[in-house]
Amino acid sequence: MNIQITQICYFLISISFVLLCLSCAGKTGDHVETEKEWTVARKKMVSQLCAYRIKDEGILAAMNKVRRHLFIPEQSKPSPSYAYGDHPYPIGFNQTISQPYIVAYMTQCLELKSGEKVLEIGTGSGYQAAMLAELGIKVYSIEIIPQLADHAREVLKAEKYESVQVLTGDGYMGWPEHAPFDAIIVTCAPDDVPQTLIDQMKEGGRMIIPVGSGFQRLDILRKKDGKILRTEDVPVRFVPMVHSTPLSTNAPAKGK
Ligand code: SAH
Repeated sequence: MNIQITQICYFLISISFVLLCLSCAGKTGDHVETEKEWTVARKKMVSQLCAYRIKDEGILAAMNKVRRHLFIPEQSKPSPSYAYGDHPYPIGFNQTISQPYIVAYMTQCLELKSGEKVLEIGTGSGYQAAMLAELGIKVYSIEIIPQLADHAREVLKAEKYESVQVLTGDGYMGWPEHAPFDAIIVTCAPDDVPQTLIDQMKEGGRMIIPVGSGFQRLDILRKKDGKILRTEDVPVRFVPMVHSTPLSTNAPAKGK
C-alpha cells in the first residue's frame, strides 16, 4: 500500500515538473524586452564602436542615447542583439537601417559642429537623422518612399526630435529652400555625385556620399574657394539612389 502511495507521489511530482517546464517555455516565446535590456545592448554596441576607429566622444554619447530599436518598424521586431548588432537591418520596402559603425563613421568624417545645418538624403528609418539632431545639428532630411518618410516623422516626434524636418521627395533635387548646407550626408548610392547637391554646399562645406552601382566607395567632398576637393574613402555597400518619375517635385508633403 505504502509503495503504491509513493509511486503515485512520484508520478504527480513528475507531471508537475513537466507542466512547469512547458509553462516556462511559453513565457520565453512571449518575452518582451525591458528598457534595461535595450540599454545593455546599446552600451555593448557603443563599446564595439570604441574598439573600431570611432573616437569622437560626442558621437559615442549620441549613439548611447538614441533608442535605435524604436526606429526599426514594429513588423520587423528585432531582438536586442539584432537591433544593436553591427549590421544593417531591414526596415521594409527593400530598404535597410544602416550598420551602426557606418552611421558613426560617416558622421565622424563630416567634422560637424553643434548648430550647423545638414542635409541628409535617404531618411529611411530616421535613425541617422536622430543621431545628428542629438549632436545639436539642424537636420533637413529627404526620403523618396512616402511610407518610410511618414514612419520616420512619427518616431522622430515621439522621441522628441521634432526639430528634424523630413521631406517626402527626390534627393537628386536637394532642398533649395534651405540651401546652402554646412554638410550633406547621402545614405543611398548614386552612380556619381549629383551636381545639384554640390551646388547646395556652403563655402567650406563637406559632403559624404557612397558612389557607384556595382562596386561602391565613400567619397568625401569639400568646397574650398568655390572649388571641390574630392577624396576617395573606404569601399561600402548601400541601397541605390533611385530616380523619381519625371513629373514629381519636392513640394512639401501633407503632414510635414
Ligand atoms: N539613413 C537611413 C538609412 C537609409 S537607407 C537610416 O538611418 O535608417 C537609404 C534610403 O534612401 C532608403 O530609405 C531609400 O528609400 C532612400 N532613397 C533612395 N533613393 C532616394 C532618392 N532619390 N531621394 C531620397 N531618398 C532616396
